[in-house]
Amino acid sequence: MTCIDSLWLPYTQMATAPAPLPVVAASGVRIRLADGRELIDGISSWWTMCHGYRHPHIMQAVAAQLDTLPHVMFAGLVHEPALTLARRLAALLPGNLERVFFSESGSVAVEVALKMAVQYWKNRGQDRRRFVAFRDGYHGDTLGALSVTDPGCGFHAALAGYRVPQIFAQLPREAEARAALDALLANPDIAAVIVEPRVQGAGGMRFHDVDTLRAIRACCDEHGVLMIADEIMTGFGRTGTLFASPPDAVPDILCLSKALTGGTLPLAATVAADHVFAAFCSERAEDAFMHGPTFMANPLACAAANASLDLFESEPRLAQVAAIEAQMRRELEPCRALPGVVDVRAIGAIGVVQLDRPVAANLRPAFVERGVWVRPFGDIVYLAPPFVIDAADLTMLTTAIRAVVAQSAAEASCPISTP
Ligand SMILES: *Cc1c(COP(=O)(O)O)cnc(C)c1O
Repeated sequence: MTCIDSLWLPYTQMATAPAPLPVVAASGVRIRLADGRELIDGISSWWTMCHGYRHPHIMQAVAAQLDTLPHVMFAGLVHEPALTLARRLAALLPGNLERVFFSESGSVAVEVALKMAVQYWKNRGQDRRRFVAFRDGYHGDTLGALSVTDPGCGFHAALAGYRVPQIFAQLPREAEARAALDALLANPDIAAVIVEPRVQGAGGMRFHDVDTLRAIRACCDEHGVLMIADEIMTGFGRTGTLFASPPDAVPDILCLSKALTGGTLPLAATVAADHVFAAFCSERAEDAFMHGPTFMANPLACAAANASLDLFESEPRLAQVAAIEAQMRRELEPCRALPGVVDVRAIGAIGVVQLDRPVAANLRPAFVERGVWVRPFGDIVYLAPPFVIDAADLTMLTTAIRAVVAQSAAEASCPISTP
């Protein structure tokens, strides 16, 4: 790697990785590199930048907030941007998800949800400590969140010994898996089930239908177990609806982050249903929830999030997502005929081409050469573009995917001669 001074990059073998690309600016759907090249961002900066970079409405809101109150601690003090945001989230979310606990990253939002679930039971006089999570699920990189992430995801093999042992089940897509989940939840040690609704993201962009979520909700109700929905990736329109959780499979606790501020600033929220919150309210000090990130509810981030919610109201985001889905289906479908491709699928503003082998990361440089920022991983090449992308730019992305996947198939079919 060329000299990057003191940096340690994420998910990167620093000894051998190619040099990272220096970025100097970004605007709309484009990232500008220091050498003057521009890349169309096909993955919205890790699924955050739903309105594009530097949307003027968000820039203005953050600038105004910077002028009055960039930060203040959140214990014993509150501020209008956080109050407004909490009220708006509670109003938008389905069911009785009413109490918003803020933090600064998705992993922490998951940690908070797990702690809430365990203490919910403790406050009610029950000792329930274990979680049921699903194969191919991903919930974050901190130790608690990684403990409910499928060990098969391969992110964290080096830390296998540090995971809190949890229970992994198949998503109840069909009757057999439903029966298995039902049997698992009869275990009186289970505090909650955690699931990424509709799309398992970092575990391979795998989809499931609403009935699967209804089955999970029904199993949880049957056994009185809490349901946690990790909507950190799916929240705010990514799957075609504002939230992926349907009104008839509302979780007891729901986690949000990535697109919460429109990708502008770090912020996360763990939202609890009324009955969860009620278990923490009593005359006993020890029933209180003991967690408090230093930068929780940062006013700049809350202002950005409120501005982002304005844009969901004032601009046709969900219609744009539907149009993106239709165009991706049309333009990615021809990939199905390419050798080495085992599946092509789309839901909302997520389009996936799945290969028959885990070589996708090797394809990354070819995308940069074509002027697009796409970051394949595992066995998938995928798009999760900003919702404001126009048809021509989206075609640039899908064309690049078709070309790169075709080229890699051609290369794979040549006999490899190693020097
Ligand atoms: C990204 C992600 C997380 C972790 O969020 P961070 O902000 O990276 O800590 C957790 N769950 C899901 C579903 C995610 O996509």
